[in-house]
Amino acid sequence: MNPTTAPGAAVRDLRQWLTQLSATGRVAVIRENVALKHRLAAIAKCLDGRQAAFFPKPDGHAIPIISGFMSRRAWIAEAMGVPQSGLLEAYRRAADNPLPCQEVPGGEAACQQVVHHEIDLHGLLPIPTHSEHDNGPYITAGMVIARNPVTGIQNVSINRIQVHAKDRMAILMLPRHLFAFYQAAEANNTPLSVAIVIGADPLTLLASQAITPIDHDELEIAGALQGAPLRVVKCMTSDVRVPANAEIVIEGRLLPKVREPEGPFGEFPKYYSAKENREVIQVDLITHRKSPIFHTIVPAEMEHLLLGSIPREATLLAHLQRSFPGVKDVHLSIGGVGRYHLHVKFEKRREGEPKNVILCAFGAHYDIKQVTVVDVDVDVHDPQQVEWAVATRFQADRDLIVISGAQGSVLDPSTTIGKETPDGGPPPMHMQGISAKMGLDATKPVSYHEHVFTKVRVPGEDEVDLSKEILTDVTIDWSSVTQT
Ligand code: MN
Repeated sequence: MNPTTAPGAAVRDLRQWLTQLSATGRVAVIRENVALKHRLAAIAKCLDGRQAAFFPKPDGHAIPIISGFMSRRAWIAEAMGVPQSGLLEAYRRAADNPLPCQEVPGGEAACQQVVHHEIDLHGLLPIPTHSEHDNGPYITAGMVIARNPVTGIQNVSINRIQVHAKDRMAILMLPRHLFAFYQAAEANNTPLSVAIVIGADPLTLLASQAITPIDHDELEIAGALQGAPLRVVKCMTSDVRVPANAEIVIEGRLLPKVREPEGPFGEFPKYYSAKENREVIQVDLITHRKSPIFHTIVPAEMEHLLLGSIPREATLLAHLQRSFPGVKDVHLSIGGVGRYHLHVKFEKRREGEPKNVILCAFGAHYDIKQVTVVDVDVDVHDPQQVEWAVATRFQADRDLIVISGAQGSVLDPSTTIGKETPDGGPPPMHMQGISAKMGLDATKPVSYHEHVFTKVRVPGEDEVDLSKEILTDVTIDWSSVTQT
């Protein structure tokens, strides 16, 4: 049974989703006592894209771990209650129509059923060490929620968090909304209250990755994705609001003017980020459900890539369609780590248009490094078809655009070449991520002679039902070529 495309109601709770996955054979229950260092991630990685992995008592720890419950595009569509073909449109509709959250009293919030004032992160939580050169245990599926110190509006993001002491953690903040809040607080020499939510439902995790302007609360997009306001509760030590049905909440403060070493850490491009001094969270309180579940994302695997790529695709599609109604679909390829390589399906009316589409896409998100525009007879989700279009409709001296020295992804190691400090370290922040952009127009001409650019097909090939054509209960005697 595999009801992965049946549209239905949106999933509103992690346990509801795990029940649904488990009932259809999509959760592997792993033996007890799997080592938190490397072994757990290795097993989850082997199951990536096939089954979520559930680890009872990892290293003997009372709290179990789940990983990989959003590791297929079809599963994410199923959680949203839409067919896969409508995934981006449904996400975009939610992002455009956020629903204000519904606040509930602390007594009604599952995430505050158990409260720990005495903080020992390693003792209280099972925190895995994932990749070979990672500098210790990391929280990889923690939604970091903070309030803008000026406007009070919340922001949600997923940041990598290194747990390096029993009550202290170092965090990577890219120059986005959370970092802007932190800079505003630090300028006044005040800490920024944050909550780290672990074990959120799939659609709230997906909402956290929306590409929105600052002061658009991603939790309101979660409500829109779920079709009802998200229930939130006020933290016990701050004004931050967190999803009431989360599994685990770490309450703390980002300290002003404190930096401690963080990294190396294996990131989504499948390379390590270098050790650098980063901002620090002082942990004040941990709350959780009775019998909570800890969620870990194995870096660079499908759950990680899809969580980032689907919200980006939805935003890019909307952005491109504003100027180019001929854009029919977009896809951030998995080989391009779900961030760097964009495929665009485009109904071309006039020569030259694909190059305008390419330029528009580069302006839409700095991570995009390569754009390939193809015709509507090419499936942008099939890398083999996209390569076929490049192989047969593209000439590099005519159809290629290269732009030098633009801002790209700071996590792309090829951007660092030649910019290292004299001791071989990474360049300063403002010099990181400088990248070339490449655009490929792999569309066929608007008009062409006879069948030069007509894709070969056999009439009726799409309508064949093999179960009606193949005989199953006959054998051929090949010496006489007769049926027996
Ligand atoms: Mn934001």
